[in-house]
Amino acid sequence: MAAIELLLKYGARVRAMDSSPLTPEEHAHFAKLGVPVLSQDESNIGAATMVVLSPAVPYDLPMLIAARERGIPTTGEVELASFFLKGPVLGITGSNGKTTTTALTEHLLQQAGISCQVGGNIGTAVTTLIDSSSEQRWNVLELSSFQLESISHFRAQIAACLNVTPDHLDRHHTFEIYAHAKARLFETQQAGDAAVLNYDDATCRGFAALTKATVTWFSATQPVPNGVCLNGEQLLWNDAPFMYRSQIKLRGLHNVENVMAAAALAHLAGAPLVSLGPAVASFPGVEHRIEFVRTLDGVEYYNDSKATNVDASLKAIDAFPCGLWVILGGKDKGSDYTPLRAPLRQRAKGVLLIGAEPPYAYAAAPIIHKALDGSVALTDCGTLERAVAYARAHASSGDTVLLSPACASYDQFQNYEERGKHFKHLVTQLL
Ligand code: ADP
Repeated sequence: MAAIELLLKYGARVRAMDSSPLTPEEHAHFAKLGVPVLSQDESNIGAATMVVLSPAVPYDLPMLIAARERGIPTTGEVELASFFLKGPVLGITGSNGKTTTTALTEHLLQQAGISCQVGGNIGTAVTTLIDSSSEQRWNVLELSSFQLESISHFRAQIAACLNVTPDHLDRHHTFEIYAHAKARLFETQQAGDAAVLNYDDATCRGFAALTKATVTWFSATQPVPNGVCLNGEQLLWNDAPFMYRSQIKLRGLHNVENVMAAAALAHLAGAPLVSLGPAVASFPGVEHRIEFVRTLDGVEYYNDSKATNVDASLKAIDAFPCGLWVILGGKDKGSDYTPLRAPLRQRAKGVLLIGAEPPYAYAAAPIIHKALDGSVALTDCGTLERAVAYARAHASSGDTVLLSPACASYDQFQNYEERGKHFKHLVTQLL
């Protein structure tokens, strides 16, 4: 919708297509804009001079491939925005941690008095940021593989990749194609730009060879040639300590990685090193990311509904010592759940499975059940209501109940936010 409004503003003749039926409200909105809604087919696409894609539309749809073969450009929303956006761009990608790092980078820049605006995958379409962009203002953008796969003009003066672990294989087919979508962010950079990369992640390391930008590394486990690393209780910029780990209020080593990336990004964009520690300390975290909900009879409840893939859940499980009751399940994306076996055996008292059940075609619960069988006690709960009630009945003082599903939410919820809010509602109602 944001792209359509931009195109109309610049005088384009716009037609809209969607493979799903539109709601009456959507029809009314298009009618108000004077935009005809056509059926999504090859002849309608073939009649266009340019096709603009929502990030939800796969770049490799046969009708889009056919359009490209006929010389019709198929342009993503972020790529479209890049022709109009003023000011420098700071782009953040990765399989996990994008939103946390984007929100934190915004916070660090603001605390240092550096002007910025935030958008992209975090919620505000990049095309909506154009009017408020200016030469002196940073555009801090969270970028997903879906937004990056089609870029060629879009360029970030400062770009970061936090990690690349298997996700969205239902859309990208292979890990290599998925990783290459993220690599586009670095391939479009130029000499004099900066790339911030995770030294501990083999795929991120590989991006260094693809970019003309100067690389700044970050690592939570080892010294780096140039950049930020964790040394015991201190974070170092090259060899100089600039803040303490204890200033990070967010749980888990993965959040130390996010802080290191955000610190590097903010410093490269002009924030003084001395400003970073206090600014990190005042960052409250983001809703649905290992978010504390309440303590009841000594049992702590955490909402990590945004853990929609296996790696995110692994990180959340890792952030707690033991006595865990982990709620897993939802819509499967073709993931391998076996990496959860060892940490769950070590730290969990039980796994509570939720999600739509077969014949629903993407039911994760039976696949997870098979993958984890023998490593941890598994209980099929079906719904979040039953899982929370089960946890309430079986958890004892000192335990932690963690919703960190490792799956998408679309089988039972509108999105992960609705799932997380529902969990919080159920937990706050517990007596
Ligand atoms: P994204 O925007 O990439 O989905 P979020 O910041 O929203 O990332 O976090 C998504 C999930 O991933 C949460 O469950 C969070 O706990 C977990 N997570 C956050 N940062 C990292 C990281 N650096 N590595 C792995 N998992 C992470």
